[in-house]
Amino acid sequence: MKMSRAHRIVAVSLLALSLVACSGKKADEHAPDATEHGSAEHGAAAAGHGSETGAVQHWTYSGNEGPAHWAQMGGPNAVCSAGQRQSPVDISGNTRNMSSHMVMAYHASTATIQNNGHTIVVTPKDGGGVEIDGNLFTLKQFHFHSPSEHAINGHATALEAHFVHQDAKGHYLVISVMSDIGAADPMLASLWTYLPSDPGQPVPLPDLLINAQDLMPGTEDFYVYSGSLTTPPCTEEVTWMVFSSPLTVSAEQADAFQRLIGPNARPLQPAHGRDFLHMAGS
Ligand SMILES: [Zn+2]
Repeated sequence: MKMSRAHRIVAVSLLALSLVACSGKKADEHAPDATEHGSAEHGAAAAGHGSETGAVQHWTYSGNEGPAHWAQMGGPNAVCSAGQRQSPVDISGNTRNMSSHMVMAYHASTATIQNNGHTIVVTPKDGGGVEIDGNLFTLKQFHFHSPSEHAINGHATALEAHFVHQDAKGHYLVISVMSDIGAADPMLASLWTYLPSDPGQPVPLPDLLINAQDLMPGTEDFYVYSGSLTTPPCTEEVTWMVFSSPLTVSAEQADAFQRLIGPNARPLQPAHGRDFLHMAGS
């Protein structure tokens, strides 16, 4: 288990804020309530933002309600097909270095865990966040996909964790940790003991404090790009920071998740000429 390293300071190349600035949107304009509407595990469900559609929308990862049909749910979901900056993507080709000042300031917190039918969502009560060039992005929740949604140079992995953050203006920043099959992850082992077997409401995690930092690599080396939520309504203007070096999970850990949730990865989306930036810690 890694030690928590709150207040690490890394000199990274940057950009991120230029990618998220100026959307002018508030969080509740694009964060449907997962508990009522069964959608958008990326949304800040814990904040209780309600969907404005007023209808329960069903979607899946295959078949007639699968990713190719998400846009047909109408309204804001149209961007799932029409958008030019959708996620996930294969991160490949030339990357451009930029630098930024990044401080990871996560801390241990009580949390809830939920099987929302699409993924397992962990919502810390007060888990801290990450500060980039003075702009604080608060950790809202994290959840998992198996197999991974992103690929790096064509390489997908067995599991991918998404740490969803928002700043005070509602801009999304999602930090992604990919994991190959290998040694079991000890932090995940603790968490996996509490996997809810059936979809339902969030339940408190007993006897377990969650520190997001413990579930992240010890490096400060990311690929950064501008993308979208990977679940309906596929909202764009999301800054993605994907750790360039995967962690490992055991085959049993990945299997346990897939048995519960099933494959839950949206297919790769076209890059449409987007820049991939490289942020390397000192
Ligand atoms: Zn996700």
